[in-house]
Amino acid sequence: MDPTVVRTFGTQLRKWFRKNGRDLPWRKTRDPYRILVSELMLQQTQVSRVVPKYAEFLETFPTLHHIARAKPMRVTEAWSGLGYYARARNLHALAKVVTDSGRNVYGVLPPDAEDLRELPGIGAYTAGAVSSFAYERRAELVDTNVGRVIKRVFAPHADLKTGKGQKQVWAIAKAILPRTGKATWVHNQAIMELGALVCTARVAHCHVCPVRKVCTTYARGSSFAAPGTTR
Ligand code: SF4
Repeated sequence: MDPTVVRTFGTQLRKWFRKNGRDLPWRKTRDPYRILVSELMLQQTQVSRVVPKYAEFLETFPTLHHIARAKPMRVTEAWSGLGYYARARNLHALAKVVTDSGRNVYGVLPPDAEDLRELPGIGAYTAGAVSSFAYERRAELVDTNVGRVIKRVFAPHADLKTGKGQKQVWAIAKAILPRTGKATWVHNQAIMELGALVCTARVAHCHVCPVRKVCTTYARGSSFAAPGTTR
């Protein structure tokens, strides 16, 4: 990839986020447990539904230790309204492993994505999110929004439904990370936000997009743009 394009993409993206990023509660903390809870809740559930539930849940279970000590049923009950209860069950199992099993003597979540992935219910995306958003590590992450932005900007022919396409966007996500962990925090938040607000699945709002100057889909014109893309 052209280093100038990568640099411009990152600089414009982070600048845009500093002005336009939403003020969300999990963006104000670096507590790994709180970050993990937000990430689990945000899988399959809209931000507007997560915000009130997040505060309520943390009031009931302020730390991973509170989760580990609770009966699994109580954690599931506190999760009610969010659906996909396997997430709550996995969180309970994870809390037990981290605080009880002796695998982690400090009783906290590990900072490295590879170590996080060994815990119950933690996939590649969540591992990258906790590592980057809680510990400010240079960890890449790809969810649906990030995958879509990367595909449209850097790899319009990547098929995200295939293992090969996924591998390709994960490799790009890693290659475009900024140099420091602190900047990576902003970068990862920003690319997710761009996918949620500007480069959405239904419509790509290219006219207000901060990275259009370096976007391959935009440069190729509407006949190459994703369905529903507006210019
Ligand atoms: S220019 Fe358009 S297609 Fe490219 S990233 Fe921005 S919104 Fe998406």
